[in-house]
Amino acid sequence: MDEKLSFFKDGFRLDGRRPDELRPIKIEVGVLARADGSCYMEMGDNKVIAAVYGPREVHPRHLQEVSRAIVRYRYNMASFSVEDRKRPGPDRRSYEVSKVSREALEPVILTSYFPKSVVDIFVEVLQADAGTRTAGINAASVALADAGIPMKCLISSCAAGKVDGEIVLDPMKFEDNFGEADVPIAMTPGGDFTLLQMDGRLAPEELKRALELAKTGCQQIYEVQRTALVDRYSSIEEQESCDEAEVEIYE
Ligand code: ADP
Repeated sequence: MDEKLSFFKDGFRLDGRRPDELRPIKIEVGVLARADGSCYMEMGDNKVIAAVYGPREVHPRHLQEVSRAIVRYRYNMASFSVEDRKRPGPDRRSYEVSKVSREALEPVILTSYFPKSVVDIFVEVLQADAGTRTAGINAASVALADAGIPMKCLISSCAAGKVDGEIVLDPMKFEDNFGEADVPIAMTPGGDFTLLQMDGRLAPEELKRALELAKTGCQQIYEVQRTALVDRYSSIEEQESCDEAEVEIYE
């Protein structure tokens, strides 16, 4: 007979978090020299990299839109990103994740500024531990800003889940696999949702609680995204003023 799985120990989750706590986040901006914008992000044991190219000419040409840029998003999981090797190449799940992730970001990109062009977003998952679509969206949002793509605002994304009857923030793989529900969202800093998905079963009150919790998670992620961008660009400004000073000294 199956033993009942345990998700909590002394009120804490198996990775030591409180129910309303995010996993540790790390963001590095501008990590790829050949992309127009890029970002490396860790959310707990998830490791993802996002690269943005554009706005640039659309190929194939028949995809061109006369009045706006199109946005393409490719989410890919590396074969070595999961425990058992993942079969390389696109599959149903990666098409779905790519589609919802693009739709999570497109509403804030000012596509009408760049008619007949394309903004390409690539997200590579190097290590997966549940929540890779949300990590990918967060990294892509920062990479878009790094590429200088005009946007109304950043997008932040995270999930809430239900384990052992309790609503928890940012489920890790064990909680996602064996829990009762998973609700990933993405939103603007103003609280407008651009992604809302749900796996599993929740009562209306539980869904409300999950959305509230996920919203607090997105607010915290937004602060980290914003700080990473500010740090990146203030350090570039500092570097530039140092370079100027050196020029003055040695000229
Ligand atoms: P997300 O990563 O956005 O939470 P899912 O809920 O579909 O998306 O997947 C949850 C987790 O299951 C992934 O983060 C990954 O750890 C694992 N997973 C997904 N697809 C595969 C796969 N093909 N092989 C092994 N593990 C996978």
